[in-house]
Amino acid sequence: MANPTLLILPGDGIGPEVMDQVTRIIDWFGAKRDLTFDVETDLVGGAAYDKHGTPLHDDTMAKALEADAVLLGAVGGPKYDDLDFSVKPERGLLRLRKEMDLFSNLRPAQCFDALADFSSLKKDVVAGLDIMIVRELTSGVYFGEPRGIFEEGNERVGINTQRYTESEIDRVARSAFELARRRNNKVCSMEKANVMESGILWREVVQRVHDADYPDVELSHMYADNGAMQLVRAPKQFDVILTDNLFGDILSDCAAMLTGSLGMLPSASLGAPNADGRPKALYEPVHGSAPDITGQGKANPIACILSFAMALRYSFDQGDEATRLEQAVEKVLADGARTADLMGPEDGTPLSTTEMGDAILAALDASL
Ligand code: NAD
Repeated sequence: MANPTLLILPGDGIGPEVMDQVTRIIDWFGAKRDLTFDVETDLVGGAAYDKHGTPLHDDTMAKALEADAVLLGAVGGPKYDDLDFSVKPERGLLRLRKEMDLFSNLRPAQCFDALADFSSLKKDVVAGLDIMIVRELTSGVYFGEPRGIFEEGNERVGINTQRYTESEIDRVARSAFELARRRNNKVCSMEKANVMESGILWREVVQRVHDADYPDVELSHMYADNGAMQLVRAPKQFDVILTDNLFGDILSDCAAMLTGSLGMLPSASLGAPNADGRPKALYEPVHGSAPDITGQGKANPIACILSFAMALRYSFDQGDEATRLEQAVEKVLADGARTADLMGPEDGTPLSTTEMGDAILAALDASL
């Protein structure tokens, strides 16, 4: 069988630095686990603009549509701040999301025990936390029409429209149920069905999809404002949280901060399944290009490494190998390995980006 294909887009700032460590790990899986990918590397964001005058060349877009998965580092930086909106680095990322039709955004919030002190919540509330937020990414109030600022009588009115079709709710609900089956089999769907018609429809369709095709998954519904409270009160009650674009934007940022550092947070965005049943998929750390530490060897590569672990699990059906990689990360943290973002000023000398990569590779070796 042909090797699975992976398109790597390191991007700007610390993107290439953290991606170098992922590349070492990909090579390790090839050498030690007989798991070989056909990897191609290309440009995105400012790096693509510098070479092609566009943040995403059409050839790169075509490769992304062909690949089994895309792994992206980060885009942007001060050098590009004054560019016209149409060619800003972020437009490259938005084009990828749009043309790959990535409607399901997965943001795990996982708290490694060794880092529980970094959370703003009490240690016992977050230690061992492992939840996943599934956010609808391509519809809802950020896209609904009519939208704009209009004259009304002697004043102006700002309008956005929350709009969801049944099929849009149906497909993201399926994505959450499928995911729950690979985890602890629980979905909590969040909307505001008490005050919004779009929320009533959301609840109905989620329940219908559940009853028809996923009765084995435990489903509950919660109003999103209560969900926000529950996330900071007792986050471990959740497994998969399913929600729309607007509530998901807010709830996923809230959940992310339960776990401490931006340098630890991976994400995945999934689209419709290809002919082979695998969804189109883009994996990327949640953090940006971190211009303040670029080129200094200070970046934490773990968010990008855990994004690759998500690719192993959700694009390549390698759940055991994903777990192996996640456990290697957990082990190095438990052993005290820290990059600068995971330390206080009094905590000694941090590991460099490459040294953190070395430590994770050593833990992978030890796992054999
Ligand atoms: P940022 O995430 O780049 O950085 C915020 C802070 O977190 C900085 O102090 C940075 O040093 C630190 N940080 C981030 N990632 C880290 C890591 N892996 N290890 C250690 N420390 C890390 O956000 P920002 O400063 O608001 O944005 C910088 C640039 O990145 C901007 O051009 C922005 O548009 C872009 N951006 C891109 C993405 C993306 O590519 N998906 C996301 C957010 C921001």
